[in-house]
Amino acid sequence: MTEAKNLKSDEIPVSTFQNVMKQFDQAAAKLNISGDLLEFIKYPRRATIVKLPVRMDDGSFQMFTGYRVQHSIVRGPGKGGLRFHPDVTLDEVQALASWMTWKCAVVNIPFGGAKGGIACDPSKLSVGELERLTRRYTADLIDLFGPEKDIPAPDVNTSEQTMAWFMDTFSMHERHTVTSVVTGKPVILGGSLGRREATGMGVVITVREALAHLGMCASNATAAVQGFGNVGSVTAQYLQKIGVKVTHIGDVFGALYNPDGIDVEALIKYVATSKNRSIVGFPGAQPFDIKNLLYVDVDILAPAALENQITDANADKIRAKIIAEGANGPVTPEADPILEKKNIFVIPDILCNAGGVSVSYFEWVQDRMGFFWSEEEVHARLERIMTRAFNDVLQVALENKVHLRMAAFMLAIQRVVDVMMLRGIYA
Ligand code: GLU
Repeated sequence: MTEAKNLKSDEIPVSTFQNVMKQFDQAAAKLNISGDLLEFIKYPRRATIVKLPVRMDDGSFQMFTGYRVQHSIVRGPGKGGLRFHPDVTLDEVQALASWMTWKCAVVNIPFGGAKGGIACDPSKLSVGELERLTRRYTADLIDLFGPEKDIPAPDVNTSEQTMAWFMDTFSMHERHTVTSVVTGKPVILGGSLGRREATGMGVVITVREALAHLGMCASNATAAVQGFGNVGSVTAQYLQKIGVKVTHIGDVFGALYNPDGIDVEALIKYVATSKNRSIVGFPGAQPFDIKNLLYVDVDILAPAALENQITDANADKIRAKIIAEGANGPVTPEADPILEKKNIFVIPDILCNAGGVSVSYFEWVQDRMGFFWSEEEVHARLERIMTRAFNDVLQVALENKVHLRMAAFMLAIQRVVDVMMLRGIYA
């Protein structure tokens, strides 16, 4: 895989998919499972690439490349988001699809793993162009999708609106409304209450459990959050709600610092009305050098943006005691042993950010029942699923004397293997 664009400081391209395979291999080596079967669950089951011609507002046509990777359907239909970003590649989508398989297994919901992406810069596309791109992607790949086959959701730069267009296009082809083909929809179109904030809430539930495990107190703790999209903003908001002082926040445009804690609710309101939807210029904090955001002296560091942020080139500079991986893949396999040596408690992505897909599961269940739950019920179920998953992973970690990422992968791989063995191989 040479197409990944993320570069380490020494300019060697990082293959994000190779990173997941390393994480898989390290955990699988600790389990007593036959090699041939491991190959079967390690690699994606199916990867599809499409060329998508889209009519632009000026009448011209532009070509985009779209991907959907179904990594596993062993435990249930493929599940995973759809990402719009200029750096989307097959390598990245394969990695993200694999993480979805292990994430769904960690929280023990009946889904496999999948992911989609379109290489595009959504900030340069009009609403109409984004709608036509989403509809063309849905229509071109329609045979892959369905409530029993593969169920997309929002991810980086996609939203409830993207899911509404997806659902409508799919439904027009099916000739009837199929709400359960996507999750993360607007609530009035069959979305679930509590889905929007689910990933950030889940991150904070795992942080709260980690603080308790480490004998630390939320009201004495400080935090830095990288990213202020759906995951980062809600993570910061709920960290503050449990008493953590969020002193540093960064987004793609810049970073902020307030030693007394940034008023996150006020920042969310500021971003909603600001130019570029950025945190820059917020009057309740001082500007901070974004290059140093990951290295600040806080108790909790929550990378909640993109993958490959903490590598062997910068892991030794991290000073936080807890890393809460709101993003998928923010820490590379080479950085893990460095962080472990520094005694940093890493809550791995496939556990930490699994609140989003957990409430996606609740949404899919509600759509299929045609019966919708209150916000309190969704939150209570999210709380149960996340604390149980945290404790399941912690137990594996303590029993095997391994760090949490290794434990999460061991637990997830074993759960997939158990189902695969019961189903048997059709040959
Ligand atoms: N995109 C989110 C993730 O990476 C949510 C996926 C989903 O809800 O299907 O976990």
